[in-house]
Amino acid sequence: MATRSMFELDGDLADRVLGYCRERLALEPGPLDHPGVKAELDAALAGLLGQAGNDPALVFDLFAEKLAPAVISCDSPRFLSFIPAAPTKAALLFDMVVSCSSLQGTSWLEAAGAVAAENQVLELLARLAGLPDGAGGVFVSGGSAGNLSALVVARDLARRRGVPGERPKVAVSDQAHSSVAKALHVVGMDALVVETDEQHLTGAGLRAAVAGHEDELAAVVATAGTTNAGIVDDLEGVGALARELGLWFHVDGAYGGAALFSDRVRPRYSGLRHADSLVVDPHKWLFAPFDCAALVYREPWLAKAVHTQDAGYLDVLHTDAPEEWNPSDYAYHLTRRARGLPLWFSLAVHGTDAYRDAIDAAVDLATETAGMIAERPYLELLRDPELSVVLFRRVGWSADDYSKWTSRLLADQVGFVTPTVWLGETVARFCFLHPGTTTEVVVEILDTMA
Ligand SMILES: *Cc1c(COP(=O)(O)O)cnc(C)c1O
Repeated sequence: MATRSMFELDGDLADRVLGYCRERLALEPGPLDHPGVKAELDAALAGLLGQAGNDPALVFDLFAEKLAPAVISCDSPRFLSFIPAAPTKAALLFDMVVSCSSLQGTSWLEAAGAVAAENQVLELLARLAGLPDGAGGVFVSGGSAGNLSALVVARDLARRRGVPGERPKVAVSDQAHSSVAKALHVVGMDALVVETDEQHLTGAGLRAAVAGHEDELAAVVATAGTTNAGIVDDLEGVGALARELGLWFHVDGAYGGAALFSDRVRPRYSGLRHADSLVVDPHKWLFAPFDCAALVYREPWLAKAVHTQDAGYLDVLHTDAPEEWNPSDYAYHLTRRARGLPLWFSLAVHGTDAYRDAIDAAVDLATETAGMIAERPYLELLRDPELSVVLFRRVGWSADDYSKWTSRLLADQVGFVTPTVWLGETVARFCFLHPGTTTEVVVEILDTMA
């Protein structure tokens, strides 16, 4: 009896949950909220999971009153730490459709409708990046999963090419994302760290670093928008040299790749046309909900040869039909949610111009903020922003001062702004991407540092 009812719709619960979602979507802006206190959370959760269930209304209220406020809202326009999020309402609503319809996107046989729409978005990204027709891939859970899946392909191709030694090398700059080092560890390759020009990986730097090591190398990883400082590597120079040397060229655009939609930034991304693989996280700057990262390959069949899973019960998925596209074949995974659909829906509803404008607004705010910092005697700009990250120093502050300031700003709900370490020094950092982050919000925060 209880088993059956578990699968029946409880109208009251549906109203409660959908009502909550509607209210949350209508908040302009949402609350920033607070860090959690373990003892309080433990007390709220105590005894909840037992043999018998609980009144759904009570469980939901417990979530809304005790748990939700202990999750800092990364989609608040005052969340300027790490890389924030700013999903569109259309994307969030469609994410509910993906959940309620159990929309998966594992294979063409099971999910052609979802896969066709996801692929439409991947094609758009590939076209903006200047990749040739036929480029394609899959939406994975995040940039880390994308970087890992691409580097597995690079490693296998290097092995096939007969790159000598147990551990092929991958040329990177010391600004590459931490997930790249982790991925190299997992796949058994070593980093060849290239000296940078003001923290940019360049073609010239790469040429100097690889001299004498050409045979040991499997790949080069460049970054289109580093996480810490928003630095765009010399994609043209690095990509052309990778091509010349026959190395796999992977571009990590998890954060900055979204700026492909900006007519002003895109010219700096022309080197993406050389990429063998590219990662862009829509859950960062393409205004999609978690968890969503686009992984695009120039020649997807190379990835398919590496990632396809085989089993008797999967044979039915592998046909020779030209339209067959199994997203499971392009990364390290099998079952997957159709996580590209919220972005597809939002893009279809709003059009790419709206995305361009929203991305340009964040780039403009970074430029404007750099100007405001330069005008304040107690602040020092550390470098001109290339995308939407701003690094700056509060003259005279220690790491401890930054840390106290971060806590105070959050306690006062003025902002969530964590410091970073830049060239060995603890400094302040903003990452803008929420279109609701206004000049006034930035001024309010800068004033707290006076
Ligand atoms: C965020 C980020 C990643 C990791 O992406 P996740 O989605 O957090 O796994 C990788 N590279 C860069 C440049 C990033 O900014």
